[in-house]
Amino acid sequence: MDASAHKAGNIIIADDDPSILLLLRHILSEENYDVTEARSGMEAIELCREFTYDLAIFDLVMPDVDGISACKEITLQVSNPPPVLIITSLDDDASVSSAFDAGAIDYITKPINWSVFKQRVKRIVESEQNRQKVKRLEFHDSLTGLPNRTLLLDRLESATLRAQRNQSMLALLMVDIDNLKLINETLGHSNGDKVIMSVANRLGKTIRDTDTLSRSGGDEFILIIENIQQLEDVGLMAAKFSRTIEHSLTIMDQDLHIKASIGISMYPQDGTDIGSLLSHSDAALYRAKEQGGNIYEFYSPDLGRQARRRLELESNLRHALENDELVVYYQPKINLTTGIAEGMEALVRWNHPEKGIIPPDDFIPVAEETGLIIPLGKQVIEKACAQFKQWQVDNIPVTNISINVSGRQFKEQNLVSLLQDVLNKHQLDATHIELELTESTLLKNEQQAESILNELHNMGLQISIDDFGTGYASLSYLKRLPIDILKIDKSFTDGILHDPDDIAIVNAIYGLAKGLGLKLVAEGIETSEQLEKIKQLGVDYGQGYLWSPPRPAEQYLELLESLS
Ligand code: C2E
Ligand code: CA
Ligand code: CA
Repeated sequence: MDASAHKAGNIIIADDDPSILLLLRHILSEENYDVTEARSGMEAIELCREFTYDLAIFDLVMPDVDGISACKEITLQVSNPPPVLIITSLDDDASVSSAFDAGAIDYITKPINWSVFKQRVKRIVESEQNRQKVKRLEFHDSLTGLPNRTLLLDRLESATLRAQRNQSMLALLMVDIDNLKLINETLGHSNGDKVIMSVANRLGKTIRDTDTLSRSGGDEFILIIENIQQLEDVGLMAAKFSRTIEHSLTIMDQDLHIKASIGISMYPQDGTDIGSLLSHSDAALYRAKEQGGNIYEFYSPDLGRQARRRLELESNLRHALENDELVVYYQPKINLTTGIAEGMEALVRWNHPEKGIIPPDDFIPVAEETGLIIPLGKQVIEKACAQFKQWQVDNIPVTNISINVSGRQFKEQNLVSLLQDVLNKHQLDATHIELELTESTLLKNEQQAESILNELHNMGLQISIDDFGTGYASLSYLKRLPIDILKIDKSFTDGILHDPDDIAIVNAIYGLAKGLGLKLVAEGIETSEQLEKIKQLGVDYGQGYLWSPPRPAEQYLELLESLS
C-alpha cells in the first residue's frame, strides 16, 4: 500500500535551528505526517499563503520574524490559516500570554516531552481536519463537491462589487438539465445522481479558473462569468456549455441523451444586485424551458437578439469573404479649383444574396472585433487596385485612388508587403495610392504606428487623416508623422452655413494645413451653398452627394459613355 496516499495530516514547521527541524521532521514523519520545513518566520508566512496546512509549529525565537509575529501575520492575513503551535523555552507568563494573544492554539516548552508532544499534535490535527470538513459541507454540495448556494451567493456578491469597480459586465447563467425528472422516475435517483455528476464534470472542464460553477440543488447549476468584453461572448459560452452537456450517457444499458436549458442575466443591464440577477436568470431559464428546452435565453430579449445577431453576422461575414460577396463602390474626389474629379475613394459594400447591399457601418465594426478585417481589407486593396488599373486601361482619367484602412488592419496586416505585391502585380505607381487612416488608429500605439507609417510613406504612398477634427485634442503628431492630406469630417461641412463653431474649426484646420503643407479635403458636401462656403474658406478638394454618392465602378464607365 502506498503510504503517501494516507498521510495523517499536513504540518509546516519553522525553526532557525536545523537540528530542531531535523528532530521535529523525524518524529512527525514517524507518525505519518506530511512535513514541510521553513527556515525562517518569513518563509513560513509565504508558504502558508500559498498552501493549506492542518497545523503550523513555530519556534518562538527566530532571527527575522519570530514565532509570535509569524503567528499573528498568518491568523490575520491568510485566508485559510492553520492552527499554530508555539515552541518556547521561556515558559514565563509574558511569552505564553503573547502567544495566545497572537492567536496560537497552544504552546509547548523545551525540552520537549515527545510523547506529550505527539498526543497534542494528533489532537490538534484531528480537530482541524474536522473543522475543515464541516466548513466544506457547509459551503459545498455533497454530491458534486461544487460550491453550494450559500457560497454562490457570497461569490456573486463579491463578483458584482468587482464588476462595479471595474465597470465590467458579468453574466449569471442558470443551467438546468431538461430531462432529469424523467431519468429519476424511470431509472431511479442513484442514476439521476450519475447524470448530475457527469454534467458537473463536463461543465467544470469548460469554465475558466476565474468563473464560479455551483450546484444549487436538484438539477440546477449556476455559473458566474466575470469580465465579459462583448455580449456575444456570453452567447458563445452558453452555446459551448450546451454542446458540452449534450452527450449520451449509457446507464443500465440505456443511451440517455442529456440536454440542458440555460437562462442568462447580465450585470449591469438586467440588474445590479444579486437578487434581481438571480430572479432574472431564473425567468430567462423559464422561457428557455417553455420553448422546449435545449436552448439558451437572455433575460432581456434585446440583449439576446444582439448577441445572436453578432454571432450570426460574424459567421455570415466569414461566408461572404469566401464567396466573394464583397464589392467596392467608388466616390469621386473633386478638385475645387478646376471642378474636375481627380481621385476616387474606395468604399466597401456587402452584396448579400438575400438582403442586397449592406453598408460598411453594419459590418466593419464586427470585422474589426473578430479579426475578419484582415482578409476583408486585403480583398478591398486587391479589388480597388485592379479597378484602378482597369480605368487606366480604359483611358478613364482617374489620377489616384484612396483606400480606407482601419485600426487593427493597420497594426496587424503587413500593409507594406501586401501593397508592394498588389502594386507589382498591376504595375501601378505607389504615389497614386492614398491610404485613409483615422487619428485614433495612429495614436493608439504611436511608436509602432510611426514606423509603419514611415515605411509606407517611403514607398511613395500618400497618407490621409480621415474624419479629421473629431478625434484628438493634441495635434503635435501632425508634425511628427509623414502625413499628406487632412479630410475634414462631414459634421463640420454639415454646420458650415450656420454654425459659427464649425466655421471657426474649418478656418483653424485650414491654417494648420497650410502651415504644415498638407492638402485639405472636405467630406459630405451636399449642396452648392455648402460648396461655395467651403471654397471661400480655401479648401482644395471636396467629396459628397452634390457630385455623386459612392457607386459601382461600371456606372462611371456608363456615365462617361453617355456623355461622349
Ligand atoms: P468614411 O471613410 O468617412 O467614408 C465616408 C462616408 O460618408 C461614406 O459612407 C460615404 O458614402 C458617405 N458620404 C459621402 N458623401 C456624403 C454626403 O454628401 N452625404 C452623406 N450623408 N454621406 C456621404 P460609407 O460608404 O457608408 O462608409 C462608411 C464608413 O465605413 C467609411 O467612412 C469608412 O470609415 C468605413 N469603410 C468603408 N469602406 C471601408 C473599407 O474598405 N475598409 C475599412 N477599413 N473601412 C471602410
Ligand atoms: Ca474615408
Ligand atoms: Ca470620413
